Amino acid sequence: MTASPSRDRGAEGVPPEPLPGTVDAHAHVRSRELQHDFAAVLQRAWDAGVTHIVDVGVDTATSLQSLELARNEPRIHAVAGLHPHEAQHLERERASLRATVEGGGVVGVGEIGLDFFRNISPPDAQYEALRWQLDLAREYDLPVVIHSRNADEECFDVIAEWQRRVGRYLGPDREIGMMHCFAGNLELAVRYADLGFLISVPGTVTYSNNAQGQEVARLMPLAGILIETDCPYLTPVPHRGRRNEPAYVVHTARFVASLRDCDPAEVARETAANAARLFGFTL
Ligand SMILES: [Zn+2]
Repeated sequence: MTASPSRDRGAEGVPPEPLPGTVDAHAHVRSRELQHDFAAVLQRAWDAGVTHIVDVGVDTATSLQSLELARNEPRIHAVAGLHPHEAQHLERERASLRATVEGGGVVGVGEIGLDFFRNISPPDAQYEALRWQLDLAREYDLPVVIHSRNADEECFDVIAEWQRRVGRYLGPDREIGMMHCFAGNLELAVRYADLGFLISVPGTVTYSNNAQGQEVARLMPLAGILIETDCPYLTPVPHRGRRNEPAYVVHTARFVASLRDCDPAEVARETAANAARLFGFTL
């Protein structure tokens, strides 16, 4: 692919070369950083060939925003949950979060997990919120979206213990969750895949010092991976250091294709199919 010179500058809001059929499996499109030009952000995504965006809440309020967006835009799908940073507010959020999931319209529970990098909520609260929401997802037959940072083994232990109890509850051909922004090594990726999880590759895979992430994106089967922006964060090259937006998932798809020496259209098609299968939407 030859990009025009204007596309190489990496300026914010410059649309990528379109890659039709791409899905952004994890975004926060209602985040403050994306509001001043929100309509243009979405339009650039559709123009870039993005066909669906999975939009993820971090508490009840943002989950409801996501749900409202999804009700008005069939290409956006809502995931509801309490982020590990917010886990200390579980008692305040528990009833409203359950009501949101019970109300229907959400395609998953997330993002939930453990974050021992910043420990914004105490570890005990993080464990409790994670375990409660894993069971909530099982109760409503929804897949989970997991955030794990500086908690590789701790998070795996919780997920593995839960998976032993619930099994492949969405059916033998459908995964039960995704590891959002996966930052572990290949061995951990394989262990999660064995539990029935998809491994989601973020824009940071494009960073030259990310050999571990590149190994995961190169060697996991295409049927086992997703691609995501996590916008407004984790912006891929060539926009690194600036605000991220769903259109840029196309850069990540092309980079993954270059690692695997395959056609970017194949990466887009396969990862889109994986996202649709996990979250139960139609492409
Ligand atoms: Zn996220």
